[in-house]
Amino acid sequence: MTQELAFRHMLGNLNLKWDMHGGQNVVDINMETCSCRRWELTGIPCVHAVSAIVSCGRIPKDYVHNSYSIETFRKTYNFIINPLRGQTEWPETGGTSSTKL
Ligand SMILES: [Zn+2]
Repeated sequence: MTQELAFRHMLGNLNLKWDMHGGQNVVDINMETCSCRRWELTGIPCVHAVSAIVSCGRIPKDYVHNSYSIETFRKTYNFIINPLRGQTEWPETGGTSSTKL
């Protein structure tokens, strides 16, 4: 089956209206949004956005949110978490009463 892609430029060259499989979505590469909202929700360009980005001669990987980068991963897991042997080693927080098991 031939995939039919039709796009036309709107409001400059990076705001594209995209037709895929009979549906239509608006991709704004500058704002990193798509009307299907997957790009905004996940931080990863959706299929519409990838098509738009590639058609502009750009690399989709460059539009993935920074939270997925190796650098961010390393910063997240840079700290050591020491294991505890059980509830008896839990630190007291000084909060309200707790339920004893
Ligand atoms: Zn989309």
